[in-house]
Formats: sequence, structure tokens, C-alpha cells
Amino acid sequence: MIDLRSDTVTTPGPGMRSAMAGAAVGDDVYAEDPTVRELEERIAGLFGHEAALFTPTGSMANVLALRTLVGVGQEVLCESSAHIARAELGAHAAFTGLTMRTWTGRGGGIDLPAIEAMFAPDLGPFFVPTKAVSIENTHNFGGGAVLDMASIHAVAQFVHDRGAALHMDGARIWNAHVATGTPLSEYGAAVDVLAVCLSKGLGAPVGSLVIGSEEAIAESRVWRKRMGGGMRQVGILAAAGLFALDHHLARLHEDHANARLLAEACGVDPASVDTNIVVVDVPDAAAVVAAAAEQDVLIGAVGPRTARVVTHLGITRDEADSAASVLAKVLGSS
Ligand SMILES: *Cc1c(COP(=O)(O)O)cnc(C)c1O
Repeated sequence: MIDLRSDTVTTPGPGMRSAMAGAAVGDDVYAEDPTVRELEERIAGLFGHEAALFTPTGSMANVLALRTLVGVGQEVLCESSAHIARAELGAHAAFTGLTMRTWTGRGGGIDLPAIEAMFAPDLGPFFVPTKAVSIENTHNFGGGAVLDMASIHAVAQFVHDRGAALHMDGARIWNAHVATGTPLSEYGAAVDVLAVCLSKGLGAPVGSLVIGSEEAIAESRVWRKRMGGGMRQVGILAAAGLFALDHHLARLHEDHANARLLAEACGVDPASVDTNIVVVDVPDAAAVVAAAAEQDVLIGAVGPRTARVVTHLGITRDEADSAASVLAKVLGSS
């Protein structure tokens, strides 16, 4: 089976497993796990922020991050297919009690005029006040699209001028960084708080982080425990993240090249593929998924007429080639 459903299907290799087995650990609820602290400090440093907090999932990292910016009955603006809006099962409403309004951007991108038009200052007991804007980089359902730095700076300036804040869902910020060469610290400098995942392209089995100010992270630590996310000798998992940063970051360009190859086979312009995700419009996604599976290629359906193909470190160039010929046949684009 060649599994292209998601970059979360990777399994840890021998090097990562031995780093995990050898990790120094302690009780992280007492802040005594040296490997977790090392990971948190390293990640905070990479993004130029004061602090970071290890979480079990990216969804929890996003919930913790946004709740440092937006309170009960206040709103965040985000893109209509954002992971926080579509794929976190209403966690932000359920746990934080915030509301969302959305704009629709091409490839999940930033539409500053739409944000400007929607933005609601605090006018007292009449309208829901906008406290934050959230952007996603790369954009998952937007086909792994990278946000351009100029738009990020423009939206950052807009929200900061109005006393609001900017959140970035950077689950795949690593892919954006490798695709564009933009330093992680430049992304970090533009936003108030961000969430990143180690369990996507970086190939760790578990783990995400919230990154922000000392104050935001102290608050997130309290809420992580409140949500049942206080973990004990979790350095075993943080070690996988450290290993992933050392060994799996620079290689992401291989996934991007494989994605372009697969795009071509699927009749998608490879130049439109920024990173490791190819979104394909098809007449019947379920039928395409089933036909590919019959030939040992697994892809995903992310909508009734939308298939998604994702490359990752478990896919070699040869496997990408084989999958490309299967998909070309299935999609009739050969
Ligand atoms: C995967 C993902 C997350 C976090 O997902 P978890 O499964 O909760 O770790 C957040 N944002 C984006 C864009 C994602 O793709």
C-alpha cells in the first residue's frame, strides 16, 4: 500500500525510536522533564518567542493559543475552510465560548479587505467584539498553500493597529519555511501566538506546541491541565520531536517535489502546488478513492468532489512514481 491520505500516517523509524528510548525524563506536570523543557525552549527560540508549551495535539495547541487572545462571547475571524473552523469539532466554541466569522480566500489565503470589512471594534453591549484574526500556514484544505509574507505583515499591522491580535495555525509551518526559505523567526515575529505540529510533515508520532509570551504560555499551562492534558514522563515523546527537528526538517523539499510529480499525474498544475498537499477536483471523490485503493494507492476525500493527496517522509520517489501512474489511470488524466 502507498498511503497518501495524510502526512500523519508516518511511523517512527529506528533512529527516532532509539532517541525516544534513551530520553531523560521527569514529571512534566512538576516541570521536571528535561527533554520536554529542551524541546519547548528550542521551539520558542526558533520562532523568537519567550516560551512554548508541549501539547498532545495540534487541536489542543490551537484551543490554548486562541483562548489567550479571545474570551467568552468574543470572536475570532478566520478563513472559511480553516482547520480551527472545520476540523476541530467546535472545540473553540465548546471550551472557550468564542464565536467565529469567516472570509473565503483562494487557497485559504488572507483577504485583507474582507477582514477590514468584518472587523468589529468593541462598541459595548451591541456587537460581538473581534479580538483576534487567525491565519493558517500552510493551509491544509487550501491544498498546502503558503501564505505570502507581505499579506501576513499587512494583516498583522491591521489587527495590531486596532488592539487585536494575530494567531497562526502553523501545523505545517515547517513546509512553508522550507518551500520559501522564510526564517521561522520571521513568521514568529509577525504573530502573537502560534501553534505548530511535530506529528505532520516532521514525522513525530505525537506532539504539538503553543508558542508565545511567558504570560500566554503560563496561562496555557493552566488550561492544558484543566483540559486533562497535563502529561508526566512525556520526554519520551518530546525526544521524537527533537529528533524530527534535527533529521526531518531539511528533507521536506523532497515531499514537495513528490507532490508536484503527483499533481501532474492528477491533472493539477504542479506550479500551483506550494508544498506537500495536492487537492484534486473530481466528479465523485468516494469513487476515485475506492478505485485508487483497489490498486494499492490510498488517497483521501475531503469533500464530496474533492480528493486530497499528501506526500510525507514515508513515501520514496519510486513510490511517488508508482502512485502517479495509478492516479493518472484512475483519473483518466494520463
Ligand atoms: C492537523 C492539523 C492541526 C492539528 O490537528 P491534530 O490532529 O489535533 O494534531 C491543526 N491545524 C491544521 C492546519 C492541521 O492540518
